[in-house]
Amino acid sequence: MSAIYNFCAGPAMLPQAVMKKAQQELLDWNGLGVSVMEISHRSKEFIALTARAEADLRELMQIPANYHVLFMHGGGRGQFSAVVNNFLGDNGRALYLVNGQWSSAAVAEAKKLAGEAQIDSLNIVEKHNGLNAVVLPDLHKIDADYRYVHYCPNETVDGIEIFDELDSPWPVVADMSSTIMSHEIDVSRYGLIYAGAQKNIGPSGLSLVIVRDDMLKLPSLPQSSVMDYRIAVEHDSMFNTPPTFAWYLAAEVFAWLKSVGGVAHIADVNRRKAELLYACIDNNAFYRNGVELANRSRMNVTFQLADPALDAEFLKQAEAAGLVALKGHRIVGGMRASLYNAMPLEGVQVLVNFMNEFAAKHNQ
Ligand code: PLP
Repeated sequence: MSAIYNFCAGPAMLPQAVMKKAQQELLDWNGLGVSVMEISHRSKEFIALTARAEADLRELMQIPANYHVLFMHGGGRGQFSAVVNNFLGDNGRALYLVNGQWSSAAVAEAKKLAGEAQIDSLNIVEKHNGLNAVVLPDLHKIDADYRYVHYCPNETVDGIEIFDELDSPWPVVADMSSTIMSHEIDVSRYGLIYAGAQKNIGPSGLSLVIVRDDMLKLPSLPQSSVMDYRIAVEHDSMFNTPPTFAWYLAAEVFAWLKSVGGVAHIADVNRRKAELLYACIDNNAFYRNGVELANRSRMNVTFQLADPALDAEFLKQAEAAGLVALKGHRIVGGMRASLYNAMPLEGVQVLVNFMNEFAAKHNQ
């Protein structure tokens, strides 16, 4: 079978080397004669795996010692509620920046749960010459006592990415579900980072939380114990049975990322992949991307065909060429190519060749 390149936004492709290793180990992990799914999360073998996962992640992201690393349930959306419930007790107030579908879903969830707490939101996307552009507000000029400011550095659906780190007087809470470990960041600038796993980490369901120690002193709302950060810290993310297979795969993905050269290396590959695809879009009047240069996502490249009547034919022929899951999110339509860490440069080259040929054929 010729190569298949999977551009799905999530659950997304995982590194081939990791999938092959997982396949080999499926029935006999670590010489135990059983799969990693079938052993106790409290066994010494599994505890060793979690220690290795955390150490590798700390090294990859240069996580300072005053941050906790938690492996929790509930994916990205689970954290929409956990953040509110953990930090907004005693009538707390929070600010949400909105630059697309996911940050706006986070606001909706926060408002639903807030009770006496107050949720403010600020739209930060403007149209510049018909293109979506992020305009970050000067947060120091806002006279309010927020417990945190929440934002989404990469909007998976809209293909809008914010590369500048926020300059904020309040702790920054970031939904990094679709950008985590895609390029280097300074973790010390954040109060909390979370990510659903199914893009750059591993299988869906798991969520990764990196939280600064002092954040845990904020008053919480009544909440479920499994989503309580303090309880998760006290129990090393094992208050209840964790998603062990997802945790194992995440550990393998971290080990793979280290082996290929870490975040700095993958950031360079990611930049080259995105440049290649955006150049193809910009060089063909047949395609169009609606995001200003500075905010074009490197992880989720959205584009439209000049003639939407050709969308179905484009997708059909792409699939026949081994290029799958290019359909844009149902809310925004068009196309989307997700170029997470596991997507090799060759996959984008094959996509670009296909797009050039498709445009040439239909421009005649
Ligand atoms: N936040 C972002 C940026 C996402 O891309 C997604 C899912 O794609 C989510 C949150 C929701 O994640 P989940 O489906 O794991 O709840």
